Amino acid sequence: MLKYGKHLTLLALSLLIGCLCSRSVVTSAPQEKPYDLLITNARVVDGSGNPWYRADIGIKGGHIAAIGRLAPNQAIKTLDAANQIVAPGFIDVHTHVESIYSLPAAENFVRMGVTTLVTGNCGGSATNIGEFLGRIKEKPLAVNLATLIAHGSVRRQAMGTEDRAPTPEEMKQMELLVEQAMKDGAVGLSTGLIYVPGTYAKTDEIVGLARIVSRYGGVYATHMRSEGEFVADAIRESIQIGEQANLPVEISHFKISSKKLWGQTPLTIGLVRSARERGLMVTVDQYAYTASSTSLDSRLPTWLRAGGLTEAKKRLADQATRERVRKEMKEGLKRSGFKDYGYAMVASYDSDPSFNGKSIAEITKQVTGKGDVSHQIDQMIAMYEAGGASMVYHSMSEDDVQRIMREPFTMIASDSGVRQVDESVPHPRGYGNNVRVLGRYVRDLHLLSLEDAIRKMTSLPAQTFGFRDRGLLREGFAADLVIFDEKTVADRATFEKPHQFPAGISSVIVNGELVFTGEAMTNARPGMALRGAGTASLVPTVAQGD
Ligand SMILES: [Zn+2]
Repeated sequence: MLKYGKHLTLLALSLLIGCLCSRSVVTSAPQEKPYDLLITNARVVDGSGNPWYRADIGIKGGHIAAIGRLAPNQAIKTLDAANQIVAPGFIDVHTHVESIYSLPAAENFVRMGVTTLVTGNCGGSATNIGEFLGRIKEKPLAVNLATLIAHGSVRRQAMGTEDRAPTPEEMKQMELLVEQAMKDGAVGLSTGLIYVPGTYAKTDEIVGLARIVSRYGGVYATHMRSEGEFVADAIRESIQIGEQANLPVEISHFKISSKKLWGQTPLTIGLVRSARERGLMVTVDQYAYTASSTSLDSRLPTWLRAGGLTEAKKRLADQATRERVRKEMKEGLKRSGFKDYGYAMVASYDSDPSFNGKSIAEITKQVTGKGDVSHQIDQMIAMYEAGGASMVYHSMSEDDVQRIMREPFTMIASDSGVRQVDESVPHPRGYGNNVRVLGRYVRDLHLLSLEDAIRKMTSLPAQTFGFRDRGLLREGFAADLVIFDEKTVADRATFEKPHQFPAGISSVIVNGELVFTGEAMTNARPGMALRGAGTASLVPTVAQGD
């Protein structure tokens, strides 16, 4: 309330100054100008989904001070939008940027119009959220940063990578870690239920932690137990957690990654719709590609990976166990409908970077001269034993991607980290996700209107994650903006050459400061840590049920 009041005062003040200036002959010193920045000739797409309208936007003190027909010469700096689209900066709710302080410009995100990142997804986050978000003071960022507290990281800290239920003491420790994280500003809880150690948790363990998150007004964001063969059960589990713990559910990177189930999205979307009809807040996020990206490990049986690599290596030394791994992987591959591992491409393999960009089928052929699945599995096991790899899996259908994108509760999120240009061959989504939606799916394929696509990148994420003064172009809101040309906006990053910045983005503004000019990043680092509703300095939401 206090914060909002301040905005209103600010607004009133700037309007007052605006009036005074327009009546007098203006020879004001820079500090007396009503706006720090004035954007003129904008076609405003405000994030609500409403059709664009024409206006100027005045920015003062990091906030939007006025939108409308504004008099010229009222600002220290004027930016002519030249009839381009001006939208709220994009909010990417699914990222993995734990290393952002070493790449504080977050250039790959900024250059596709992203101004706010939510990290800590898929069960992996910092465990000391206060410390993590607090680092922004010493190491300023170009973008705003929020984080989830991750179940996998909390579990690892409490009980290592054991394949069992927690003891009551370990559960208590996890609860305390989650509670502290919510007080320190986490926006919710994430799980990664295909990863070690998250995969060893039963539903009741997650419900227990989600109840705490619910008390502090957070969301439950989940990388589900299955996105292929058992995807429907996994959606049901996510919904059950939301209903039992009484909190909103965000299903991460919603997809179907089993070829056998391609075309089943009406069913999976139906599960989300019916939960919403019952009154549970369920939303999903999605990246705009038919390939996913995750670790090589995730293709190996979970029982093998318990206790970490050293334990797994001991197990693999036994020929019978190794045979069991081969058999399970072969069966899994067959059930998912892929004939071999030609769909699995190496993004980054430290032990031999010459593998980067090649498929497991190609690598196996190169190393052994063989083309059968058994040799491919042996190659994958060898790479796992050598430290593992980051992978790109071409495992989805375009129809399913489009069907998910059209749903009103779907937001656009990259699932990317901060990228160092020319390092390895990562998934192109980290350079192109938002612009790919605007170019390919809005302009070229007419799948969505421009206004709806922008809503999925701005006000819907802000509403879901509780960023109450972002995601819309409104007077009093934070001045996060992106300016782009809807006719030329396009992704240029490909699976072969991912390190390509997009076209068509002409300016990106974070908290009123220009961070990207269309040609280059500026040195401005105006990003803020965005803390959740459970933060001690905010009024906590009232606990409901339990
Ligand atoms: Zn994930």
